[in-house]
Amino acid sequence: MTVRNLFLLPGDGIGPEAMGEVRKIIAYMNTAKNAGFVTDEGLVGGSAYDAHGASISEADMAKAMAADAVLFGAVGGPKWDAVPYDVRPEAGLLRLRKDMQLFANLRPAICYPALSAASSLKPELVEGLDILIVRELTGGVYFGEPKEIIDLGNGQKRGIDTQVYDTYEIERIAGVAFELARTRGNRVCSMEKRNVMKSGVLWNQVVTETHKAKYSDVQLEHMLADAGGMQLVRQPKQFDVIVTDNLFGDMLSDVAAMLTGSLGMLPSASLGAPDAKTGKRKALYEPVHGSAPDIAGRGIANPIAMIASFAMCMRYSFNMVEEADALEKAIANVLDSGIRTSDIMSEGSRAVGTSEMGDAILAAFKTLSA
Ligand code: NAD
Repeated sequence: MTVRNLFLLPGDGIGPEAMGEVRKIIAYMNTAKNAGFVTDEGLVGGSAYDAHGASISEADMAKAMAADAVLFGAVGGPKWDAVPYDVRPEAGLLRLRKDMQLFANLRPAICYPALSAASSLKPELVEGLDILIVRELTGGVYFGEPKEIIDLGNGQKRGIDTQVYDTYEIERIAGVAFELARTRGNRVCSMEKRNVMKSGVLWNQVVTETHKAKYSDVQLEHMLADAGGMQLVRQPKQFDVIVTDNLFGDMLSDVAAMLTGSLGMLPSASLGAPDAKTGKRKALYEPVHGSAPDIAGRGIANPIAMIASFAMCMRYSFNMVEEADALEKAIANVLDSGIRTSDIMSEGSRAVGTSEMGDAILAAFKTLSA
């Protein structure tokens, strides 16, 4: 039987509550579908600090590195606001991204028909929206050197960040975007600022060359990132896959997020390079939202982003495409039936808590995969 090793890091706040609902789905997959998921669990963020004085222990880091996929909840909260900077909760997530070399961040923006009225745009602009933003995650201006504030000695200071990309970084993120496009609508839109940035000129050239060399069956379009932001809110359904750098991707994926309604709905995946021997990519799946300390412990958090992150995990780490489709459809069906957590509540719907939402999605998933 195939063994699929999952390392669970529920984290803080609503992280463990949301992860509990994914555990139910994993248990069902194992007993009814012989899926062979083997789970282990560790601590990250504030809970790891309380136990080990670090945002993630070396033992848990080693388990994350060895797993087929990591499922991550959320970290942080007021309890740890004053801990030393190096061991703050977010440092655990940054360490995982860095050590696992997760250079590709995938943020889908899917608008479930039942929630189209929750978008800040007109329902007809977003209904049926299904776009995927592929953001470069380990390079660019957030990491480039020099990165400093220098004293100019005349009462002025200078803040410096450096936008820098090498060919291989652009090639590999473009490759991820083209490959994913082949599993979807077969279209990629690459966004940069080649009109004012040298790194944008190189980005454009390398994406074009990568396309020509290996992916000419995929439709490629280039757009300036500012125009891309405008098009995202003007006519978002024109896009299939968007590939862009770390800074533009940070902003454009947040814009796309709001097209779909609530933070509690948004999953994400971060992928590394394929292993030379096994072909497997290191991968971490997490909801976009944080630990929501304002509602933690009350059983009212929306578990959909966490459950949808698990659907991405099945799709991208285990090629369980049918199962992932069914789980995403189960979420849509439950929303269609009018069941809502409080963050996505609307008139005429029925308000439920975290575990009731998880149970409803599991029941719909069972029906679809029977
Ligand atoms: P947040 O995402 O935790 O919450 C923002 C708002 O959205 C809150 O009102 C919250 O109740 C609501 N919300 C978020 N997820 C929800 C869900 N699943 N169901 C229902 N409502 C939901 O962001 P924040 O308040 O800015 O940050 C809180 C803490 O989380 C901070 O310590 C922050 O550093 C941390 N954080 C962690 C991550 C992460 O772990 N990846 C991401 C963002 C923020």
